[in-house]
Amino acid sequence: MRRFLPLLALLISCSSAGSSGGAPPLGNGGSGGSTVVETGPLATGMAIGEVSINQGVKVKLYSAEEGDLADLNAPIVQGRDALLRVFFAPKADWQPHRVAVRVTLQNGGGEPTVLEIQGVPSGPSNDEDITTSANFDIPGTRLDGTLAVRVEMLDVEAGEGDTAGTTWPAEGERLFNEQSGNGAFQLKVIPIRYTAGGVDYEPDLSEDTLKGIRYDFLRQYPISAVDLSVGDTLTWAQQVNANGNGWQQLLNKIVSLRDSDPSPNVYYFGLVKPAASTASYCAGGCVAGLTYISKDSLDASLRSSIGLAFGDVQNGTMLHETGHAHRRTHAPCGPYGQLPDQIDPKFPHPKGSIGVWGYDLLDRTLRSPAEYTDFMGYCEQTWVSDYTF
Ligand SMILES: [Zn+2]
Repeated sequence: MRRFLPLLALLISCSSAGSSGGAPPLGNGGSGGSTVVETGPLATGMAIGEVSINQGVKVKLYSAEEGDLADLNAPIVQGRDALLRVFFAPKADWQPHRVAVRVTLQNGGGEPTVLEIQGVPSGPSNDEDITTSANFDIPGTRLDGTLAVRVEMLDVEAGEGDTAGTTWPAEGERLFNEQSGNGAFQLKVIPIRYTAGGVDYEPDLSEDTLKGIRYDFLRQYPISAVDLSVGDTLTWAQQVNANGNGWQQLLNKIVSLRDSDPSPNVYYFGLVKPAASTASYCAGGCVAGLTYISKDSLDASLRSSIGLAFGDVQNGTMLHETGHAHRRTHAPCGPYGQLPDQIDPKFPHPKGSIGVWGYDLLDRTLRSPAEYTDFMGYCEQTWVSDYTF
């Protein structure tokens, strides 16, 4: 027998994440070598304030106050592109002059690759302005489980002052200990042709729609790739009502399809369009998605979800419900997310915030923890938190 927690339904009280602004990076080290100060002296009057890596959520590796951080707030994922940010921390005697930030990458003891950015820092770096730090794109191929990194700040123009705190680590390199993402995330969409009550609606699964689904999972899930497939269309003549009636029957059908799939790691998602639009279906509130949550991580049949196939809510619902299929419960944000038995008691951030700065690897913009909440909650402006990642 399977043991179920109560059914969890995502109720619409929000729309998907809104548009975002953001400045392009000051510069980045690219993936090849660059002009290198051969034996530059360590920078004077300047120190490394912080080193972080961001594959969707900020993971702090070092700060001048806390030192080298061994217990990371989220995993570093193998095969996934990353942004490495190095913060400037001018000292009291800092005199503006040109410095270089040099990052040395070495995989498995092989030949090192040196990336370098030069400039005159205008002041201390901060989280919200990406142009204030030295930023390096680390291709996912470098994150193969063996990557060692060293960061140095060097004087390009002669300066005065002490050179403390200009290398990380203090000696040698830091191993990232990237964790395996277990290959591509496998997602199978089941299109549902909805014919109850004499209507005939099918989800839009155009190339653009499928690309949008792939990209949204890539942006926010700790994965290196998405293997998205589309199954046979399922015709469904039973009502699937906004108040929740009929949802469980449809989910059970998807679970039975999942059960007949010999590959345990494929997540099934039934997309249903039970009305012409979100406006007509959800005028009085509606269920947007449904997933069983199992306490048993090995119970593959519960890697099954359903959700509304309306463009304005579809992908956000897919991220949320597939989070349930990974046994995540709700982040504490929004009226429905506040139901006590559906809230994750371990969720660490107040009001369901993402907790740390997010970063969209595809459109290269930051996500503020003051504005964005975890997609496992029910608030607007969602992103992934370091807890869910
Ligand atoms: Zn939910």
